[in-house]
Amino acid sequence: MSYCCVLMYHAIYNNKEEFTNLHDEEKPYAISSDTFREHLTILKKNNIKVLNFKQFCASISNKNTVNFEFDEPSALITFDDGHQSFHKYAKPILEEFGYGGLFFITPDYINTYENAASWDQIRELNQGQHTVGGHGFTHKFIGAMLPEDSKYELEQSNKTLTKNLQTEIKSMSFPGGSYNKDNLAQANKSGYDFIFGSHCRVISNYRTYTSYALPRVAIRASTSIEQFSQIITNHKRYYLKKSGGALAKKTLKLLIGQNKYHQLYCFIAERLSSIKK
Ligand SMILES: [Zn+2]
Repeated sequence: MSYCCVLMYHAIYNNKEEFTNLHDEEKPYAISSDTFREHLTILKKNNIKVLNFKQFCASISNKNTVNFEFDEPSALITFDDGHQSFHKYAKPILEEFGYGGLFFITPDYINTYENAASWDQIRELNQGQHTVGGHGFTHKFIGAMLPEDSKYELEQSNKTLTKNLQTEIKSMSFPGGSYNKDNLAQANKSGYDFIFGSHCRVISNYRTYTSYALPRVAIRASTSIEQFSQIITNHKRYYLKKSGGALAKKTLKLLIGQNKYHQLYCFIAERLSSIKK
């Protein structure tokens, strides 16, 4: 059975100084440019067909039920937040392999965050095989918001990107993977047709995604090369282990709330990465 594995990346760094300059909450998700290049080599060696966003959209077999039909094991490469390394490293490395990326941008970061890509860079991330999508307006977690606030986040992100890129913006991912059914409907109304979450699964040919965001697999600083190979080949061992972990996470999120959970995750990941060094 064919599938598409949607990979979720964040910042990429090239040296120790660039890693040090990342915010603490970015570090658990950041990988080196060498690791990124190694990932693309492994995709190629495993004959995984890397789709650009247009090819991914063309794989939809039924728009009403959101069913896909992938003719061979595939991957879509996505990036969240809008770090300047998308332009500096991700874009040229993807192009070395002939691949295109899908870059989810948080517009509010462009003026408020010193490491964010500029509008000129973001326009280049929407050319050739590459595509830009939305990622909230301010990056606040949408699932826990009042309806008027979530409406603002979704509408404003689409409007701002559309205005600055002078093109329709059809895809988005939810910051922190946080959403509810009403948010999905609002995202559709705001112009987004392809909506991604961050629950760890592949997109399977036989599933429908009418009431769920499309799944993605997070690539973290801690993801080993062996795990990466399991992720892209839809290896049961990786996904079963993750689904057990996901249930524990869901319970913890319900108990302490999404924002506290995120802070706790970053704290633990940061501690682990400093122990490794
Ligand atoms: Zn994000």
